[in-house]
Amino acid sequence: MEHEMRAEYEDGVTPGPESPVKIWHMVRFEGIKAMCGRILGESAATQPADLWGTPEGEPFCHSCGAMYLREVP
Ligand SMILES: [Zn+2]
Repeated sequence: MEHEMRAEYEDGVTPGPESPVKIWHMVRFEGIKAMCGRILGESAATQPADLWGTPEGEPFCHSCGAMYLREVP
């Protein structure tokens, strides 16, 4: 199962690579539904799952983190 990180934004912020990220979620590859159940914007920024646990991946959704840990050895 491949994963990537997808951004959530504050209300009123236009999703996009230049916008400030409220929190990062983990989605299954190319999806828009986070593992915690939240639906994210199709134009929201994404980054590789490899950045999970690094400063670039903060702040990160705790629910997604817990689910991701269960799927990835
Ligand atoms: Zn999440």
